[in-house]
Amino acid sequence: MDLDPCSLLKASLEGDDSGTSILSIDRSSKKFEFIVKNQIFEVLESGVDLQEFLLKKINHSDYSTELIYKTNGTILETSFGKFQFPEGPKNKEYTKFFIKDITTKQRQEEEIAWRLRFELGVASSIQILIQQNSIREGLPHALHQLLYFTEMDSIFFLKYELEVENEKFKIWANERKTTKYPLIPKECENENWYDLGLGRWVHKLKKGKTIYLAPNIALPREQWFFKETKAETLLLIPVQFEDKFLGIMGFIKYKKNSPIQQENLLIYQTVSRWMGLFVQRDLDLTELNRYKSTLESLVLERTVALTKTKEELERAYKAKTEFLAHMSHELRTPLNSIIGFSKLIQLPEADETGKEYLNYIYTGGTRLLNMINEILNLMKIESGQIKIQITTFRPEDLCRQSLELIQPQANAKKMEIRFRPPKESKSVTSDFGKIQQILLNLLSNAIKYTNHPYIELDCEWNVDSLEISVRDFGPGISIGDQNRIFHTFTRLNDDGNIEGTGLGLTISLGLAIRLGGTLELQSQLGQGSVFKLKLPKILK
Ligand code: ADP
Repeated sequence: MDLDPCSLLKASLEGDDSGTSILSIDRSSKKFEFIVKNQIFEVLESGVDLQEFLLKKINHSDYSTELIYKTNGTILETSFGKFQFPEGPKNKEYTKFFIKDITTKQRQEEEIAWRLRFELGVASSIQILIQQNSIREGLPHALHQLLYFTEMDSIFFLKYELEVENEKFKIWANERKTTKYPLIPKECENENWYDLGLGRWVHKLKKGKTIYLAPNIALPREQWFFKETKAETLLLIPVQFEDKFLGIMGFIKYKKNSPIQQENLLIYQTVSRWMGLFVQRDLDLTELNRYKSTLESLVLERTVALTKTKEELERAYKAKTEFLAHMSHELRTPLNSIIGFSKLIQLPEADETGKEYLNYIYTGGTRLLNMINEILNLMKIESGQIKIQITTFRPEDLCRQSLELIQPQANAKKMEIRFRPPKESKSVTSDFGKIQQILLNLLSNAIKYTNHPYIELDCEWNVDSLEISVRDFGPGISIGDQNRIFHTFTRLNDDGNIEGTGLGLTISLGLAIRLGGTLELQSQLGQGSVFKLKLPKILK
């Protein structure tokens, strides 16, 4: 059987999924000719000027893989393959040359790259929104970012506002790829969409439906919107949180006949769902801030009211103090006369009853005068009118002088006062008279309220703090009473036998504080008490 080698070779190339051919190339002239082509090759090469393409490649000895884009959109991949044929003529070279239709593969790759880009845009715009405190600040930037990565030319967000049965949309963001594209019409913000002929859209969107329109399928009353925006494709997606309608995400494309793919539509819907979250977060924050500022103004109001009440109370207190001080003054003058005259009145020796009455007048008057003096003293401390006279002296001198003054009272009770001066002789700068007043009160109490053979007076320095303690071994004061006795008019076990007003310790504590110090009590029932006066070395 006679076999045609060329047909045999051609037949052997069939069955491949790519177009295969064999070229013979003249080494010197660089001319080439096809020896054989399979059928797919012949189909694929139609419409392509392979002669020119191969001439260029062979002339440049460029045997690399290259793509050819055909006018009908097909993409061809061309490549060369080695073909050894040593028996051939010397100046000839043989090579395989393939063409392969890679349109689908190429499209898929482009699609993946595009989708990645799109998703990157979505991610970065969401990132911007997450980082912003208020959505209104970040929204234009975020939407611009998104727009850059998508097929869309314009993007907007309309916030739904319901004011007393009047529905409106506020334009929160409207971003365009370039400023040559129009913004969405102002009427969309100012007027009711039903009046604008766009009621159908609101109705659908509020029901959670997406609107995907082109001018040719829009209703006549909606045409004006397409004319003004020059939109060829309009995509409106409701923005919701749970079931609450919050606004509209809008996308516009200006290119004619360029539909939005289903997969992309899903991504736009996802973006809109995210928007729902952000808008709601913004609303919650605004509400929270509103509460916060209401609370703040409430607190402020309350503070103002309280300050006013406090001032009124202070005024009333001051008036009371002034009244008492004044009254005490007024009482002192006639009392002094009563006491003085009771001393001067000479009654006959025999008039025992008269003398007894006179003595009542005298002691009663003196007691009253003491009380008035103490009230006056207290009023001065409380109203801050007390005058301080600062001098420098040694505390042991002060103690000794006070001891001299109190001695008669101690003698009357046959009580000894044991004094321990400080180990170190240092001076104190303070009010001599006021410290003495405190000390006399403490000593007088220790004598009055105890029956032990002695009491103790200790004066010592604790670094730069002067501590003067009056210790007695009397009945002591219970924990519950320890605070109470510093309050005005508090007298424990007052059976009228011991003279006193219940003001001495209140005054002493007030004075100690005024001198920058403290007056502390340590006491145990049945053991006695220690009143410790602590003062700074120098009163500033
Ligand atoms: P007065 O001595 O004029 O009553 P004070 O304010 O000096 O007022 O004292 C208040 C009360 O505290 C006294 O009435 C007395 O009951 C109690 N008190 C004061 N010092 C002592 C003390 N050393 N021991 C026991 N009780 C005391």
